[in-house]
Amino acid sequence: MPNTSNYKLNAAIANSKYTDLLPYKDGSTTNEFLQRIVDILLDFVKATNDRKEKILDFHHPEEMQNLLDLKVPEKGVTLQQLVNDCATTLKYQVKTGHPHFFNQLSCGLDLVSMAGEWLTATANTNMFTYEIAPVFILMETVVMTHMREIIGCNWKNGDSILAPGGSISNLYAFLAARHKMFPNYKEKGIATIQGQLVMFTSDQSHYSVKSCASVCGLGTDNCLMVPSDVNGRMIPSELEKLIVERKAKGHIPFFVCCTSGTTVLGSFDPINEIADICETYGLWLHVDAAWGGGLLLSKKYRHPRLSGVERAHSVTWNPHKLQGALLQCSTIHFKENGLLLSCNSMSADYLFMQDKLYDIQYDTGDKVIQCGRHNDIFKLWLQWRAKGDEGFEKHMDRLMELSEYMVKRIKEQPDKFYLIMEPEMVNVSFWYIPTRLRKMPHTSAREAELGKICPILKARMMESGTLMVGYQPDDRRPNFFRNIISSAAVKESDVDFLLAEMDRLGHNL
Ligand SMILES: *Cc1c(COP(=O)(O)O)cnc(C)c1O
Repeated sequence: MPNTSNYKLNAAIANSKYTDLLPYKDGSTTNEFLQRIVDILLDFVKATNDRKEKILDFHHPEEMQNLLDLKVPEKGVTLQQLVNDCATTLKYQVKTGHPHFFNQLSCGLDLVSMAGEWLTATANTNMFTYEIAPVFILMETVVMTHMREIIGCNWKNGDSILAPGGSISNLYAFLAARHKMFPNYKEKGIATIQGQLVMFTSDQSHYSVKSCASVCGLGTDNCLMVPSDVNGRMIPSELEKLIVERKAKGHIPFFVCCTSGTTVLGSFDPINEIADICETYGLWLHVDAAWGGGLLLSKKYRHPRLSGVERAHSVTWNPHKLQGALLQCSTIHFKENGLLLSCNSMSADYLFMQDKLYDIQYDTGDKVIQCGRHNDIFKLWLQWRAKGDEGFEKHMDRLMELSEYMVKRIKEQPDKFYLIMEPEMVNVSFWYIPTRLRKMPHTSAREAELGKICPILKARMMESGTLMVGYQPDDRRPNFFRNIISSAAVKESDVDFLLAEMDRLGHNL
């Protein structure tokens, strides 16, 4: 990044204040100020894509506080100070779009989606009514219908909504499922349910599923964690066993969450087998494809991973993950139309009047438990316009190809890296092996040692600022690295860099 003091306003206006901008004053000050801000943003975009730049400039929180002037002042600062503040802010921000950032499920900086986000910020509207967001509301209808058609041809007449994140999307699925089974719950509450509701999800599923049980009054003990196999996929016979056990106790099983693309291992639960069980026992089937949903766009990788997804009642799908839409962009889809509205509508008189000028089915705000809703559709619509289905498909195939390349490179260096499993997605789970452990046989004692190395090697990555890869433990093993390739910026040479850099930073551990 260029020096933060490089962004000089014209000397004549450097001491100007916000009151010299629109709407207080006409004139060129507004232009000049916004132009400098855009300069800063463009430099950040360039630095993000420059492999010679660091990903981050790490400081501990106390030290960081001393580097920054964050206080909210009694008297407002000058425009020049605001420009400097913006530059300083980005100077210390982690560049999540850098080709060597492999740390998160949302990586990359898609410039078209970003342009969309800029426009969204400028339009600054709220998504609750057609009245104040006519174009955006129509875009939402078009894109959501398109996504449902991709899920399955029998989904065309269903319903969808954008939600603030996959966790909330999963909550919408839970609410709709309960509403479908107990339509009086909305008015009468908990007393209408004579018995203990229970839900099922795999032990690898996202924690937001369990959180539904806590938020919605079941209690987390009634969100049953179905065991998974060694590849991280739910075992259907274990699901059935748990359903039968709970039914025998007089409980009411009602909801099964099937994960398509688990957060840590990137595994896909067998949807068809789980759907059969749900049909037998009359349970709602939700597919949490927050992470894996992007692969619906790939003819090559969709099957067998997401085979059977059209049999679900609801699907969570986050374009802000594999598809690289800017944060946040999460969608929840229902095969049956009308449930969202009947479940969530409160018919607020001051927003959703029934006697409006236009067709009020376009007032989507009454379908959600929020009031105001951020505009998350424009950046996705614009990105989809740019790429087309074809561009998204190529993008998905490329990410998968790069992950296959990484697996191949790991296998070529068995002394330095240990592949934990053949991945189904772009999550590559492995250990790095420092020199002193290379001759040791691979036992649980070595795994324990390799696990201890992860946090130290990660700290070295962050201090050097050259690489970021995530690690975590799971039920079966101590800490291990989980690499994610979900950025269009990554090339084969970056994968080579990643492995070489881990070795450079970690060989003497
Ligand atoms: C990321 C993730 C979620 C949660 O999505 P947020 O947008 O972070 O709330 C839910 N389920 C799975 C499988 C995920 O990977």
